[in-house]
Amino acid sequence: MKIANVDGRAAIVLDGDKEIADVATASGGRFGADPMEVFARWDEVAQWGRTVTTGTAALDTSLLRNPVPAPRQVFAIGLNYRSHAEESGMQVPSVPATFTKFPASLAGPFADIEVVGPAIDWEVELVVVIGRLADRVSEADGWAHVAGLAVGQDVSDRQLQFAAGAQFSLGKSRRGYGPIGPWIVTPDELADRDDLGIGCSVSGEVMQHGRTSDLIFNVPRLVAELSAVLPLLPGDVIFTGTPEGVGAARKPPRFLQAGDVVESWIDGIGTIRNRCV
Ligand code: ZN
Repeated sequence: MKIANVDGRAAIVLDGDKEIADVATASGGRFGADPMEVFARWDEVAQWGRTVTTGTAALDTSLLRNPVPAPRQVFAIGLNYRSHAEESGMQVPSVPATFTKFPASLAGPFADIEVVGPAIDWEVELVVVIGRLADRVSEADGWAHVAGLAVGQDVSDRQLQFAAGAQFSLGKSRRGYGPIGPWIVTPDELADRDDLGIGCSVSGEVMQHGRTSDLIFNVPRLVAELSAVLPLLPGDVIFTGTPEGVGAARKPPRFLQAGDVVESWIDGIGTIRNRCV
């Protein structure tokens, strides 16, 4: 099942991505239109959603917004691919290197990226959305707490990230620096939820290309590690880290400029596209 935010309303994307079923309309008002209610009532919505076969409108991709517009917590993991830790000259961590992207920095799948400085960088990431409260969950149970997966960009202002020592959370939280989408895909839709091709290109040149099977801390392990520290709440978001190929590690370094187009994709989920302005 795929769930989208269509102009502020939750919708199920039907087979072939040509049609949507507005959740509030198709459920006869059993569920509301708020995209966050999908996660607050995940088990009910997921069960009902799988029975929906008739659309209420054609899919207009220009109306797609962030499918998780107001998470209470956003976790982001640094150095979670061996290749990226190596290119960054950092040691592979023994616990997930965790920071936050403040929720107001999140954006829709086709939102513009405002280039505000000389070192604005790309980081394609698998984004996890929690569907069921996770509090001290074992790794074996990790996937059972995940509603779905999306494509994300952890857009990073490297100057701000390393200013004042290091302040990852702020340097990765400029407005619009967390595009997510194009929708949430439930893990059962994927051939192998633990091994997905992931990549991104900048103005047509492929910059990153990897597989999520190379994650040091994979999805269920992250749910276990994070939920050992604090509860993960329905609708919470985890940016799981980026593979090698970021701009700061290139020789010479390359950063985003106005006019660039960043395309980010994950096999089986979809593509998001962000224009730099
Ligand atoms: Zn990142």
